[in-house]
Amino acid sequence: MICTAPDITENLQRVREAIATAARSAGRNSGEVTLVAVSKRQPAELIAAAVAAGQRNFGESTMQEALPKLERFRSDGLVWHFIGHLQSNKARFIPGNFTWLHSLDSLTLGQRLSRFATEHGSVLDTLIEVNIARDRARGGVAHEQLAPLMEQLLHAPLPGIRLRGLMAIGPHPANEPELRAAFAQVRALRDACRQRFGLSGFTELSMGMSGDFVPAIMEGATLIRVGTAIFGARGDAQA
Ligand SMILES: *Cc1c(COP(=O)(O)O)cnc(C)c1O
Repeated sequence: MICTAPDITENLQRVREAIATAARSAGRNSGEVTLVAVSKRQPAELIAAAVAAGQRNFGESTMQEALPKLERFRSDGLVWHFIGHLQSNKARFIPGNFTWLHSLDSLTLGQRLSRFATEHGSVLDTLIEVNIARDRARGGVAHEQLAPLMEQLLHAPLPGIRLRGLMAIGPHPANEPELRAAFAQVRALRDACRQRFGLSGFTELSMGMSGDFVPAIMEGATLIRVGTAIFGARGDAQA
């Protein structure tokens, strides 16, 4: 197999320009949008190239694959985001390794994360994943389960966990207006939760991937998770 290394610097440049253009046309400051480079199923060499090009935030979706990569880049002081479904028995690996978790979807997981974060003496920035596509193969809570889950999480209470906002994966396939409508719905959910529960720090919206980060930014995304557009197609060694 002949495999040409993607030009990570050029790809990052192109994505950053697209972010700036989208933010400008939405009347937003591009500094409000954090680019999370999704490096799952990509070799460490490509992460190193992205780091050399100034990228700081990276996303991984399985613990098994992430831990050796985190170890390798430990001294670079990167910010790691766990974006995949997290099994409860892996929660103890989050504190000390990941700054952000994008996929909280149950009280049990929240309780475990709180316990490990407290033991570790760190605080985890946490997003609740909302399943807007109602795709049963995906994680996340259904839209109508969001407020009940937040009530439980806030009632607990859970030291070491900071609820920061929502994460969603856009519907697929979907055209531009459908994507905009779906992302606008997530923004409205965040606003409603923030107000209802009086959470001034519940400000974040993780939405938008390689194919749909522009409409996500138009609708208020503050964290976008972009893999393919930076690193090229993923290897399929691991699902
Ligand atoms: C893989 C993945 C991404 C990145 O997808 P691309 O289409 O390659 O940009 C974003 N979010 C989640 C949750 C993912 O699993």
